[in-house]
Amino acid sequence: MKTWFITGASRGFGALVVDRALARGDAVVATARSPRAVVDRFGEQPNLLALALDVTDENQVGAAVEAAITRFGRIDVLLNNAGFGLMGAVEEASAAEVEAVYRTNVFGLLNVTRGVLPHMRAARSGRVLNISSIGGYRGAAGFGVYSSTKFAVEGISEALHAELAPLGIHVTVVEPGYFRTDFLDASSLSVSPVIIDDYVATAGRVRSVATGLNHAQPGDPAKLAQVLVDFADAANPPVRLPLGSDTVAAIEAKHLGDAAILAQWRTVSISTDFDGS
Ligand code: NDP
Repeated sequence: MKTWFITGASRGFGALVVDRALARGDAVVATARSPRAVVDRFGEQPNLLALALDVTDENQVGAAVEAAITRFGRIDVLLNNAGFGLMGAVEEASAAEVEAVYRTNVFGLLNVTRGVLPHMRAARSGRVLNISSIGGYRGAAGFGVYSSTKFAVEGISEALHAELAPLGIHVTVVEPGYFRTDFLDASSLSVSPVIIDDYVATAGRVRSVATGLNHAQPGDPAKLAQVLVDFADAANPPVRLPLGSDTVAAIEAKHLGDAAILAQWRTVSISTDFDGS
């Protein structure tokens, strides 16, 4: 039996992982801005602790982690899941919109990670699953700022992987493609109200495609949740876990593109070292 600590457990991936972990007999600390949503969905259960946690509030993180340890004695799996998207061309996004999405997707993830890691280090064991995105592997028009938050999650996760592996803690960054949650819905997605006509063929096109894709995405979030719960038991977990055929295609396309850049520009790329080094 494992103890999970999950952020953003009110709906979407977070709630579905709560469901699958409880079904397996694990203990779950399901945190949400509104823990009422967790209780309404799952009822009172001995293995479930629903707690208030807005990941942008570091004080709330401390209280939630202490309550988790008091109730279950340990945290075996941290699922950093809370997050939201920001749609619009990079130039269309205001400073306030950029700051808000970083506050949750990056600084919030760091707040929770700092709160949980002392307990995992003391135990010399644990798993950290950081939810990134297809956009955390390759940037694309219309989601540039959001992608940049997930690129940050990728970099943080790769470094954590290197720092924590010697201490018995495994870190994996999870890269979902488009999955059928509220992610693209007005209830979650932030959309820059500024529209600059020059971007109509790039970010503007993505705005209409994304609206049409809302609740019609190819990825099944229930399958993703089951994969994550099973993955928590995997021996030698990899540093990244792409999920969804769209993510796999995007990664393969990026690899091909980068290989072509290296092939064409290698001479220039390696020409900048000091002579003789
Ligand atoms: P949903 O919109 O369905 O769920 C998002 C969850 O994050 C909600 O529980 C929401 O809580 C919570 N949340 C948002 N901000 C905060 C905050 N400050 N503190 C605590 N909780 C917060 O989307 P998903 O389930 O799809 O999204 C989960 C993660 O997956 C996100 O990190 C997202 O970026 C990522 N992702 C999703 C993809 C998809 O296609 N679905 C693709 C790639 C990545 P509340 O109910 O209070 O709003």
